[in-house]
Amino acid sequence: MPRPITATIHTAALHNNLARVRQSVPDAKVWAVVKANAYGHGIERVFEGLRGADGFALLDLAEAERVRHLGWRGPILLLEGVFEPRDLELCSRLGLWHAVHCDEQIDMLAAHKTQVPHRVFLKMNSGMNRLGFAPERYRAAWARLNALPQVDEISFMTHFSDADGPRGIAHQMAAFNAAAQDLPGERSLSNSAATLRHAQDAGVRADWVRAGIVVYGSAPDFPEHNASHWGLQPTMTLSTRLIATQQLQAGDTVGYGSRFTADGPLTIGIAACGYADGYPRHCDTGTPVLVNGVRTRLVGRVSMDMVTVDLTPLQQAGVDVGFGSEVTLWGRASNGVALSIDEVAQAAGTVGYELMCALAQRVPVVVD
Ligand code: PLP
Repeated sequence: MPRPITATIHTAALHNNLARVRQSVPDAKVWAVVKANAYGHGIERVFEGLRGADGFALLDLAEAERVRHLGWRGPILLLEGVFEPRDLELCSRLGLWHAVHCDEQIDMLAAHKTQVPHRVFLKMNSGMNRLGFAPERYRAAWARLNALPQVDEISFMTHFSDADGPRGIAHQMAAFNAAAQDLPGERSLSNSAATLRHAQDAGVRADWVRAGIVVYGSAPDFPEHNASHWGLQPTMTLSTRLIATQQLQAGDTVGYGSRFTADGPLTIGIAACGYADGYPRHCDTGTPVLVNGVRTRLVGRVSMDMVTVDLTPLQQAGVDVGFGSEVTLWGRASNGVALSIDEVAQAAGTVGYELMCALAQRVPVVVD
């Protein structure tokens, strides 16, 4: 028998979350961001749930090929553009749109012999300081691109650094508008956080939003607002079963490093999920977990293949628990109770993005 751990991808939740994006920015077209293998979910597994998007945004050509292989004929955007000249050939063949964020990429286009003109998103660095042309160099980059016969259509993009934080987007919007306001073409400025939190801003709504984490049901501004505040549903459930229980007495410790000590009699359950499954090792005593759909906590350290959970709340509630009981690490339990991946991420000092992306290869995945 395989270990009882499973990840389940919820197609209905993907539908719901995409609809939530559309509700927030009804006039915008939506790039569903499926980079990093659809944030760890698997591109093929989310395709059905996200095929109502207007396009797919991702990072590399292999991912783009997979999306085309699924029969998608609509827009696909390479968010970082091409990495070497021969990538342009495949861009033409697959009909990809690609970001242009540096002079080297313009040089590659200029040298490229192509039959099919390219559609590009010229990227501005409006304050994130990762990729893109500085505002003062943006128009010159546009003029260069605009003069190339290899380029057919130029759109404009930037990326917000603080759409989920107190600084917001105003400073970056101002930088973008000052340099690009009158340039002809479509815009794509917003990530998930901007799409939900700053939807009243006309710049946010124009013309394409790039919705990543929100379509996977994680709140972009957690803990200020949780996912259900935004009407989001978890798209991934990580569940397993208890494979043992232990009865502790006062003074007994649990797991590596003996980091948890029982202060009285305590029943704990041993669940088949550890850091080798992608569950974060930084979670420790107190991290929320559901057993038979009842909320309880981890006790002790996360091991490679196991976690240990406190069964007291189940015993207090008179819920039957033992070998084989369902354990939900994040997502939705069989009784409908949900545990947000954001809460688990917070306990590990990270974000839901990282947990989704870290789901290990060895975990079997099913789609419902
Ligand atoms: N656009 C770009 C350029 C990105 O790098 C990302 C993700 O990092 C996104 C959009 C999607 O961001 P989010 O998942 O926060 O919506």
